[in-house]
Amino acid sequence: MALGGTVSLEACTKPPECSARVELPGCELSIHPTRIAAPMTSPRVQTRASEASDPTAPGVHVVTFGCQMNKYDSLLVEGRFTSQGYRLVEDPGEADVILFNTCSVREHAEERVYSWLGELRQAKERRPGLVVGVMGCLAQRAEGEVFTRANHVDLVCGTRKLHRLPELVAEVRRRRGQGLAPREQRLLEVGMDEEVAVERGDETYTGGLCGYLTVMRGCDLNCTFCIVPRVRGRVQSRSQDDLLREARWMVSGGARVITLLGQTVNAYGEDLPAADGRGRRGRPGLADLLHALQELEGLERIRLVTLHPSYLDEELARAIAACDKVDRFLPLPAQAGSDSVLRRMRRGYTSELYRERLALLRAHVPDAELGSDWIVGFPGETESDFEATLAFLSEIGSVQNYVFQYSPRPGTRAFELADDVPLEEKKRRNAELLRRSEQVALARHQRWIGQDVSVFVEELRDEPGTCKGRTTSYLPVSFSASSARPGRLARVRIEEVSAFGLWGTEVEGPGNEQGRAP
Ligand code: SF4
Repeated sequence: MALGGTVSLEACTKPPECSARVELPGCELSIHPTRIAAPMTSPRVQTRASEASDPTAPGVHVVTFGCQMNKYDSLLVEGRFTSQGYRLVEDPGEADVILFNTCSVREHAEERVYSWLGELRQAKERRPGLVVGVMGCLAQRAEGEVFTRANHVDLVCGTRKLHRLPELVAEVRRRRGQGLAPREQRLLEVGMDEEVAVERGDETYTGGLCGYLTVMRGCDLNCTFCIVPRVRGRVQSRSQDDLLREARWMVSGGARVITLLGQTVNAYGEDLPAADGRGRRGRPGLADLLHALQELEGLERIRLVTLHPSYLDEELARAIAACDKVDRFLPLPAQAGSDSVLRRMRRGYTSELYRERLALLRAHVPDAELGSDWIVGFPGETESDFEATLAFLSEIGSVQNYVFQYSPRPGTRAFELADDVPLEEKKRRNAELLRRSEQVALARHQRWIGQDVSVFVEELRDEPGTCKGRTTSYLPVSFSASSARPGRLARVRIEEVSAFGLWGTEVEGPGNEQGRAP
């Protein structure tokens, strides 16, 4: 059975900042093209079949929309099912359970899910034993409305209940077995009262060389354009012991790079009890976690997605400086350079405070490169506000930039504001900001010409003898190599650059571990 035909890109579904957006040119989101080479660029990911599984076991298929956190959650859910005796199936037509892990950030993303669900209606009629579930942000936001719009859905599971999905599916089946009416067989589980309990030691790690590790969920801030706090709840950090256990399991399964995920990843630990940690007010924080992961043998690199300026403190800057496994690339969304726009966004900082935090970071980590998200056409944004944003991008020198054209989202505070910047003007500002981004990236990339850099090799390119990887500053590098292979470090001499990346040749010797630009 085909679901929606061939895999195709869909509109951007991520909020600016919501840890790991999908990257799509066109639609409402534009990005600086260096981002296109980033891992996890697909907006929709489908289950891959598990190897050597029992062909008679019930099959589960998960379709994932949205961000890296959703991808992580889908792997987690797949693992929960396989440890309960299910097998993962690539073809939804072979599945006994089909789950949609959804995104709610933009209306278009939700409509895509409903469209996919619509295509399952006939399959459900033919195979009444099939269980269809919706999980993730749409489930949390829309709750029972999902059943109204797609009455063949059996299960709606919110963002803090997903670890319970196998038992929820079993409960749907039990109700069916009792012969209850179809409406009474349904389950709605959207409470925010639980922690997503994760013990994955009994699963096989399937996340590849570059794996994701969600360290915290939710957000305590309340930016007016963002629906995340509503659908993901308040900050809930996992314990450091739990995270280290999972990181060890990932590394023993083949991960060499771990990206630590959180909506505001540097708020990690804010909700944990004080225990003489390095974090804020004596709580264990991201700095402690980085020091612990630095000691993990076999782990080559640690990446962070996404930081918030308000939580960037000296302890974290020191930890990044001290831990050479941590990428010298920090996604630190500014959103705007105009203080009046920042105030209406309720970002919790001014451009001056952002400058101060960045100066603190660069005082300890002078080679740090920056990524940022930007919104153009936010309600009330004037031409001079936009000019301030353009100037701010140049000033902070962010090499990787996501640009969003503002669109109102029901359920957010900004929805109450007049969406008063015409679409054509939003498009113009979008294009202009991207042009500025390219100029900035080109200038920063040019500093690397002639330098030898350490590159973590992520994949082989189609042309024989060439590889793709990332510098310690997360800059994409393509290079010709005789011996490099994925998962290893290579030393590469940079010969050419563009606004979109670096090119070079592998040279003898260890990589330049400092990775410092001249
Ligand atoms: S509320 Fe603000 S800080 Fe929190 S996830 Fe949304 S954009 Fe990020």
